[in-house]
This record gives sequence, structure tokens and C-alpha cells, in this order.
Amino acid sequence: MDRQHTICEPEKQLPVVGEADVCVCGGGCTGVFAAIRAARLGCSVILCEETNVLGGAAVNGLVNIWHSLYDTEDKQQIIAGLTTEVLARLEGRGALTKSSNRSAAYNFNPVEMAFVLDEMTAECGIDVRFHTKVCGTLTEGGCLKAVIVEDHDGRGAVKAGFFVDATGDGDIMRRLGMPYYTGDRIQPPSACFHLLGNMAGVDVPGIIHAHGAEFGLEDDWGWSTGLAGCPGITMRADNHVFGVRCDKAADLTKAEQTGRKQMRGFLDMLKKYGRTDTHYAITNAASYIGIRETVHYPTRFKAERLPLLTGTRYPDGIMNGTYPSDVHHSDNMGITFWYLDGTRRTIYGKDTRTETGNWREEQGIEGEPATYYQVPFGILVQETWANVIPAGRMLNADSGAFGALRVMVNLNQLGEAAGCAAAACLDSQKAIFDIDGTAVRALLRKGGSAV
Ligand SMILES: Cc1cc2nc3c(=O)[nH]c(=O)nc-3n(C[C@H](O)[C@H](O)[C@H](O)COP(=O)(O)OP(=O)(O)OC[C@H]3O[C@@H](n4cnc5c(N)ncnc54)[C@H](O)[C@@H]3O)c2cc1C
Repeated sequence: MDRQHTICEPEKQLPVVGEADVCVCGGGCTGVFAAIRAARLGCSVILCEETNVLGGAAVNGLVNIWHSLYDTEDKQQIIAGLTTEVLARLEGRGALTKSSNRSAAYNFNPVEMAFVLDEMTAECGIDVRFHTKVCGTLTEGGCLKAVIVEDHDGRGAVKAGFFVDATGDGDIMRRLGMPYYTGDRIQPPSACFHLLGNMAGVDVPGIIHAHGAEFGLEDDWGWSTGLAGCPGITMRADNHVFGVRCDKAADLTKAEQTGRKQMRGFLDMLKKYGRTDTHYAITNAASYIGIRETVHYPTRFKAERLPLLTGTRYPDGIMNGTYPSDVHHSDNMGITFWYLDGTRRTIYGKDTRTETGNWREEQGIEGEPATYYQVPFGILVQETWANVIPAGRMLNADSGAFGALRVMVNLNQLGEAAGCAAAACLDSQKAIFDIDGTAVRALLRKGGSAV
């Protein structure tokens, strides 16, 4: 029998199921922060999220670490705004552990994060729509007029004056036909989970190296951390799923299945080769595999590793950061870090071999290292559609800069800037490519940001 390769979907009238000043697509921290900023500036906001909860990777992916908010000398607070507001609320609920370790400065409970984001979006009247997938776009002239959504009531349109694409993969940008590119080495995903059981003294990379193959695990390594307020439980991200493109439907399914196999293999391995005086169990598995990277969309400014890590400053800087360039290799079990002070370190899980160097010396860079880096407004400005901003891990960056910018304390700020820019565009009736980035910076500062 001949198979048909295409089939015609009959044209039909779509109900308008929502209308607002701003529609934010994707309710990860980036999207939530964009929505709150726009709402606080007086915009009506609809937030569409395809899962049942806000927080994205921080909640559905169980990624529960936010990095330091201070410069590398721990003198100046360079990240503030909604990030500090959320942390204060988590702390108030006993759901936050603080550490002097810059890379693990704040450890939170993801369920409590979801509570806080529910609370904060409700407080400013954001119309949150869960189980609502944004799956199409309707344009008019050079503007996005509405997005098509699918929820339990069916298919409908959400109209808005401005749209923020905070879907991680840039679903809106893709449906608008915007060109995209991939990094030369796409960082692989990891399926995170919560493990009950005493892990003190357990050499995880060593056990994986010696026995992982017996449980279907590659000779890999990753990281783990505690879970704020939950002694006896660790968050595990010890493995990667290699060779998948998580923006492709079939690969995403494969990644989820492989990730779960890895969780089970890891548990079984510990039961046999871990401590004998403890009971190991998985108490919670990420409901969505942790996607580090898929595609990137060109915008007016592309972040590049050297200008970033040498601390170039911009009059319209909208984001500060210190997190190192942290690149999980796509083709072997290594992770390479480039720190602001010049240290370059690659760690391989196989034999826990470490290679170090100094990238500043290698590049002939002189003078004092930067104590923090900055990104200008142009990173949010695509130049085709007047009323759309892409914000989140689809950002415009080379692999090295992406390795640094992809973390949440950084993307949170891009979200806040996107919300402020949306409000500024609506207020001035200007296109995103015609507004002044320094005015967005001023709005950010007025709302508590440290840029
Ligand atoms: C394993 C792992 C470990 C990491 N470790 C850290 C760490 O320790 N600290 C750190 O800060 N960062 C870490 N990161 C990076 C960080 O978590 C992510 O880069 C960041 O959360 C991405 O934010 P985002 O808002 O772009 O995407 P997401 O957080 O993925 O949010 C996107 C949201 O959009 C929704 N969505 C997607 N498509 C649609 C659609 N079509 N319609 C409606 N909704 C949609 C999704 O459901 C999701 O809620 C890690 C990442 C991974 C994978």
C-alpha cells in the first residue's frame, strides 16, 4: 500500500481564547521573570506553559542550584532583581541552603520553587495557562498577531501586542521561520533524579568506571548535590545521554527513554556496589529530561567567549554574570571549564584525568582579570519581527559563551530584560529593534536589578 506523505488539514475558524498586552510562551524561570516584570510595569500578561508547573528546568528538570550573585571577589552584588526576591521567599520557607562555594551558592527545593513562582505570578495578576502548548503563529505585516495554542479545550488563538519566546528551543522563532544554527558541539542532556540513601564516601565516577557497563552505563561522570531541607536525599546528574538532538521529536523520545534507563542502571549499580549499610531508592525523577542545548537564533549581538570572559562592558548591559564557561562535551565524557581568572580545566570521567591550563596566558591577554562579565541588550533583538523577543537558552552565542550564559542566574536576567523591553515597546509603540537598550537597562535598575 502506498503511504501518503502529507495530508490536508481543513481550514477552520479558531476561537480567540485570550488577549493581553504581552504573551509569554514558556514558563521556565526565564519566562516567569519576563512575565512578572512586564506585569509590574502595568501590562496585562498571559503566560502559556505546556506542562503543569512553572520553573522549567529548575522544577521539571530538578536542577536546583543557582550560582553566586557576587563578583569573583565576593565584594559587589552583580545580580539582584527577581533572582534575589525568589531566593528570599525560598529562604523564608526553609527551602534554601546557602554555601560559600560560588558554583553551588544556592541550593533550593524544586517543589518549593514551584510554590513561590505560583505565588509571585498570582500576586501580579498574570493569567497563567498550564497544559497549553504554543504550536503555531499568525502574522500580519511584520508583526506576530497571535499564537496558536492547544489545551484541553482544543485549539485556539492568544492575541497580544508583544510576545516573548521563552520556550528554551525557540518554538515561536521556529514557527516564524527564523533561521537558526547549532553550536559546533551541542551539550548533551542529563536525566536528573532524587536519590534516597547515604552516599558519604561513595566514589561515584570510580564505581561507574569499574562497574557501569554491567548496568548499561557509559564511562561517564557528572555532578550531584544535596536537596535543601531534605537530608538523606541527593539530586543526581551523574550521566549524560549522548548523540541526541533534543529539538527533534524522535531524539527527544529516545533521550527520555535512555535517561530513565540510566537512572535505573545507576540505582541498581549502587545497590550492588554502593554502601551496604543504607537503602537506596529513587524518590523523584525529572518529569522532563534536562536539556542543556539545542538550537540558537541570530540576534543583533552574538556573545563570544573571549570578549565575554575578558569582561567587556556595554552602556546597555542588561545582564551580569560570573559563572565560568562550562561545556559538557558532546563526543566524550569530559567537561571543560574556563574561569574568569584564566584557569582552564578539563576533567574526563573515564579515569578522572584532569588537564589544566591558563587561557589568558595562551591568548596573550594581559592586565587584571575581569571580576564579572556583561551582555548587552542586542542579544535579545531579532531584527525581523517587530514584537517578538527570544529569551532563554536559545540565545545567540558561540559554544564557549553559551557554556557560561546558559545558567539560570544569567537567563533570569534575560527574562527580566525581555519583560521590561516588551513593556517599553508597548509604551512607546516602537518595534523591538527601534528601542534604546539603555532605557531597558534603566527599567531593570528601577525594578531592583544590579546591572
Ligand atoms: C542537567 C542540567 C544541569 C544544569 N545545571 C545547572 C545549574 O546547576 N545551575 C544553573 O543555573 N543552570 C543549570 N543548567 C542550565 C539551566 O537549567 C538551563 O539552561 C535553563 O534552566 C534554561 O532556561 P530556559 O528558560 O531557557 O528553559 P526551560 O527552563 O527549559 O524553560 C522552558 C519552558 O518552556 C516550556 N515550553 C517549551 N515549549 C513550549 C511550548 N511550545 N509551549 C508552551 N510551553 C513550552 C517548557 O515546558 C519549560 O517550562 C543545567 C541544565 C541541565 C540540563
